[in-house]
Amino acid sequence: MSEFEQLWVWSDPAIAESLGWYRAVAENRRPAKFRIARSVPVTLSLEAAPEEALWAEVERLTPVFLARLAAVREGAPLGPPAPGASLLELCAVLVRRMLAHCNFCRWDCEVDRTANGKLGACKLGAQTRVSTYFHHHGEELVYRGRHGSGTIFFTSCNMRCAFCQNGDISTDKDNGVVVSARTLATMAWLLRMEGCHNINWVGGDPTIHLHTIVEAIAILGGDLAKPGRVDLETALAPKSDHVFMSLLRPEAACFESAFNVPMLWNSNFFMSAEAMKILRILIDVWLPDFKFGPGRCAVTLARTPRTWETVTENLALLGDWGEDLTVRHLVMPGHIDCCTRPVLEWIAEHMPGVPVNVMDQYRPENFCDPRGPKYDPRHAAMARRCTAAEVREACRLAESLGVAYETITHEKSRTRLWL
Ligand code: SF4
Repeated sequence: MSEFEQLWVWSDPAIAESLGWYRAVAENRRPAKFRIARSVPVTLSLEAAPEEALWAEVERLTPVFLARLAAVREGAPLGPPAPGASLLELCAVLVRRMLAHCNFCRWDCEVDRTANGKLGACKLGAQTRVSTYFHHHGEELVYRGRHGSGTIFFTSCNMRCAFCQNGDISTDKDNGVVVSARTLATMAWLLRMEGCHNINWVGGDPTIHLHTIVEAIAILGGDLAKPGRVDLETALAPKSDHVFMSLLRPEAACFESAFNVPMLWNSNFFMSAEAMKILRILIDVWLPDFKFGPGRCAVTLARTPRTWETVTENLALLGDWGEDLTVRHLVMPGHIDCCTRPVLEWIAEHMPGVPVNVMDQYRPENFCDPRGPKYDPRHAAMARRCTAAEVREACRLAESLGVAYETITHEKSRTRLWL
């Protein structure tokens, strides 16, 4: 049994049950979804087909993919890659088409990001920038394991959280370095080969970089058997950990001799329905951020309307689809009744049993930090940490509602070690 399998956290039945697929892929006992998508052939010419035809093909092939996923989950063989184009490439081509009238997220800006013209709420064109990437040892134990979560931080965001702890990344669209899909694929390849348990797509928010991420995943499922020297040199520039390529562990990165890794979507979940349809085919485990209640807090604190509707719709989809996930809820000062309570109540009603991290790490940053240059006095009420009483109240609410929060939330204090 591997070190990852031996993590004590799997002894919690709620966690083992909720993350069974992710765990099997992380352990290379099963192929990741992108490998299964690579085995499903398409029957139309991808470059010549209009976008509606591409969508029709996704709709036709998704049940085929899901049937194959269910069989593989039960132990059926993966089968060979499709001889020509596959569902995996179809996803990449389709997302590239979407970029020309961008509807990746709920803003639905419909701007052409391939032209040097009008920009949407994320302020991005077609380029993708990575701020940094590394073995992340601060994520939940199920994700950081012993060798870290392979986390790639993208710049810019589609929300404007005044207290953002990654404000240097999310509010600066020019942060980091421009990456191609191939460079991004090389970064993911490196992280997994160095032992990371997953590829953790995050930002800012990853949704606004959907085109580059999906293309990178298609490359990982296709011809990136081994990156070349130029690929590696380009990819290493923004890497900010001290794990070196000399420690490559291919035995921990392959299923049936081909590259394998669970894809983790670490997002604010302000995605469009179309983005969700594509990601369903590629993402093995989801890490949604669900912090704002149904009132106006998301507007006043993050200048983003319709977050409650969007996040709950997308979470409900994950429930209907039977996906692996854990939910993060950030407890915010003074927001127990308006945000924490309705969020936990919604989870208890609609997703009972899903592990929830009730996070007590709020600290005033960005526009809420009175000592910082960007401080905005309109956010004075957010310029403090949560009190112990507020955190206790959040946990008491989770407890009384029967939310499965305890193991994920308290695992660090229980072990008092970074495993
Ligand atoms: S990613 Fe979202 S915010 Fe950015 S242009 Fe597309 S729809 Fe607008």
